[in-house]
Amino acid sequence: MTTTRTGGCLCGQVRYAIGADPVVSRICWCRDCQHLSSNGTVNVIFPSEAIEITGTPAAYTSGADSGNQVTRRFCANCGSHLFADSTGRPGLTVVRVGTLDDPSSVKPSANIWTASAPGWACLDEGLARSEKQPAPLKPAVS
Ligand SMILES: [Zn+2]
Ligand SMILES: [Zn+2]
Repeated sequence: MTTTRTGGCLCGQVRYAIGADPVVSRICWCRDCQHLSSNGTVNVIFPSEAIEITGTPAAYTSGADSGNQVTRRFCANCGSHLFADSTGRPGLTVVRVGTLDDPSSVKPSANIWTASAPGWACLDEGLARSEKQPAPLKPAVS
């Protein structure tokens, strides 16, 4: 059974509800993510259509290390990063796990872009590892 997950930004102007199961959850150490979060980002991917957003996040698009164009959405008021959409991953949206009301409700299965992780990064030996961008995900078909 699918549980609905909810979450939002720090100030509460942007909220969301997700009525689908996660496709995958991973920790990303690309340099872009380090700029956003000062660390690796913990991400969970859902079918985009399952995410219902209240409020209007601002957006910033740039070319990622993977070669894809990535649009990141964040609260214009408090700056919290919430979502990312990539041209390499149509139909799927990344949600930043720390913005979920219950971040423990998902469990990352892999560290990705470990080649650019800082020397002090603590990488769980029990998780899968990808030095750079892992193979593309197939969009979930509903
Ligand atoms: Zn906010
Ligand atoms: Zn990243």
